[in-house]
Amino acid sequence: MTTLMKGKEIAGHLRLEIEKDIEFLTSKGIKCAMAAIRVGERPDAVSYEKATMKWLDKLGIACEAFTYPENISKTDFFAEIEKINNMPNIHGMLLFRPMPKELDTGEVEYIISPEKDIDGMNPVNFGKICGSDDTGYAPCTAKAVMEILKYHNIDLSGKKAVVIGRSMVIGRPVSMMLLNENATVTICHSRTKDLAAVCREADILVAAIGKAGFVTADFIKEGAVVVDVGINVTDEGKVVGDVDFDGVSPKCSYITPVPGGVGSVTNAVLARHIVKAAKQLNGF
Ligand code: NAP
Repeated sequence: MTTLMKGKEIAGHLRLEIEKDIEFLTSKGIKCAMAAIRVGERPDAVSYEKATMKWLDKLGIACEAFTYPENISKTDFFAEIEKINNMPNIHGMLLFRPMPKELDTGEVEYIISPEKDIDGMNPVNFGKICGSDDTGYAPCTAKAVMEILKYHNIDLSGKKAVVIGRSMVIGRPVSMMLLNENATVTICHSRTKDLAAVCREADILVAAIGKAGFVTADFIKEGAVVVDVGINVTDEGKVVGDVDFDGVSPKCSYITPVPGGVGSVTNAVLARHIVKAAKQLNGF
């Protein structure tokens, strides 16, 4: 039988932990707060910002919007980030991407304070993830993958895990966190030879590619656990994952749906990271 790993259920479970921490911080006179940093008016970023603010507000986390014009200079933008780094009432910073090319040159990651870097952009945090240092922050989506596996008590120790995708946002941090849990990890990418055969070795398969229905039944070992991180919109406007769900799910022991899987857990992880930052910045 295949178990569907629904994101809402896991997000609800994380929410209970978040609420407990917020109660504790409130008792200490601390109001959790995040800065939502956006350059320009891309409709997808604006709607993601609105949705995030609404969700955080429901939890009692303040969210302050810092919005800049598309033509802000790099010097001015970095000075603004530095200002937010130094605001004691802000505990986390979320930078919406993509940003204008002139600003996104691989430097901004270094400017965001690692202590407020709740979406794991700063290489200091990647280093902490690699070193299994729990004070660090993984990108929220990558962490959501791990939360899903943990919630379902999937034993990772000694298991073969294959991750398709090597981005800094998902593939690499997920691979490091699987390694930290003692899985034997193979990272695949567009140059991997005989990808389906490599994937057929996997007890746990994580797909983070960005290609609709790319992972088909012939990639799957009977009984594998499959986590589909992909979010793709088909020509018909349907949101689908990187995994051909109908073909793959009968072979799996566990699988995430898209939508309603990883994406639904990501926001809960974001809230948890803000609370964690508020605690750590205040010495708890
Ligand atoms: P990305 O930066 O474009 O990385 C895609 C990765 O897939 C790259 O490492 C690429 O290999 C690899 N790849 C591409 N084609 C391949 C192929 N034919 N065979 C094997 N590997 C291949 O994307 P990303 O930011 O990691 O995002 C991945 C997916 O996750 C996207 O669908 C995105 O929309 C989704 N996503 C979901 C959430 C969520 O909350 N669920 C959040 C963020 C992103 P190379 O490195 O060799 O190019």
